[in-house]
Amino acid sequence: MIAKRLRQSLEEGISIRDIFEEGKKMAAIYGAENIFNFTIGNPSVAPPPIVNEAMKEVLDSEVPLTLHGYPANVGHPDVRRFIADYLNKKYGMHYDERGIIMTNGAAAAIVNICHTLLDAGDEVVTFAPYFWEYKSYVGTVYGKLVPAYCNMETLQPDPWTFETALSPKTKFVLINTPNNPTGAVYTEESIKTICKILEKKQNEYGHPIYLISDEPYRKLAYDIEVPWLPNYYRNTIVVYSFSKSLSIPGERIGYMAFQSDIDDYDDFIAGATASMRYLGYVNAPSLQQRMLLKCIDATVDISIYQKTRDILYEGLTKIGYQCIHPDGAFYLFMKALEPDAFHFCEVAKEERLLMAPGDAFSGPGWVRISYCVPSEVAEKSLPAFERLYQKYQ
Ligand code: PLP
Repeated sequence: MIAKRLRQSLEEGISIRDIFEEGKKMAAIYGAENIFNFTIGNPSVAPPPIVNEAMKEVLDSEVPLTLHGYPANVGHPDVRRFIADYLNKKYGMHYDERGIIMTNGAAAAIVNICHTLLDAGDEVVTFAPYFWEYKSYVGTVYGKLVPAYCNMETLQPDPWTFETALSPKTKFVLINTPNNPTGAVYTEESIKTICKILEKKQNEYGHPIYLISDEPYRKLAYDIEVPWLPNYYRNTIVVYSFSKSLSIPGERIGYMAFQSDIDDYDDFIAGATASMRYLGYVNAPSLQQRMLLKCIDATVDISIYQKTRDILYEGLTKIGYQCIHPDGAFYLFMKALEPDAFHFCEVAKEERLLMAPGDAFSGPGWVRISYCVPSEVAEKSLPAFERLYQKYQ
């Protein structure tokens, strides 16, 4: 018998993975080349070769007992110092080793922050559409996720809905740019407006409201600068993951970064350190931490994603679909051809097109196309999208 909270969350959840698995079954019947599975965000571009080389080098050069032993909960000190120096050089910041905590990817970092900052009933505001797991992360400590809907013409945050979503119970704001599921990169103007509102509300409520910047897609941005949030708001905690920039989601490595001038700095470090243990992660994987010393600045070949993005965006808008140009990540948000995106996705399956209904991301009436597929698959899917479009005319 499982916990009531978990059962409720399972019943409410829309499993994108189930749709993906359905696609695999369809592939077995019709042939993989005839199925267009745009459901999940598993990287399709190979990791840069330096990743494997770095891992081998670490294995060959380090003392096994030390390498494979427990590191400090927050990570190897030299790796944390190295990342602090890297960020300071890249963004002109003043991080130190204590302000870098190594985590098992972005997911573990966000759950850790929820555990560290939230009491039951506390609120976390996030911009909708948002990554569907956020609700579960916040729910693990009985917090409440409050959506602040973006302007659906631009997919940029809307200042009014944001300000009204904040309350004295807001402990932090969770922001994700480049965004999953929309591919939007929030503009500098949007960020400045959000930060101004946050400053005002922080003063009004008399307690810190942290800005948690969830950045697994920072390096997957196409010909556009992604604003560096700590430049705009002091109480910012950056959550970074190498899952997408190095195509290694299975290796579970990332970090959180914050400067010593955030409110309650020492308390936050103590809480986040204890949470590593209490949550059962204990520490980020040692080998992956050490590997970063040799390949932190490497990135997958993002021109491959960009090419697929261009094929789909140009192809779909030419057919007549309404899409907002995605500037980053590997997602494209497209308006369904009927108000019920679930039904639209069912109709699309008749053309062997698999997509995720936007409702899963608090974006009803839209669908998410995850284009981490080979560009030939995207190209070949366009006639199927054309037939789907014709069905609605
Ligand atoms: N945040 C967003 C917006 C994501 O899309 C994902 C994964 O897809 C995560 C967090 C979790 O990533 P990680 O593999 O680093 O835990």
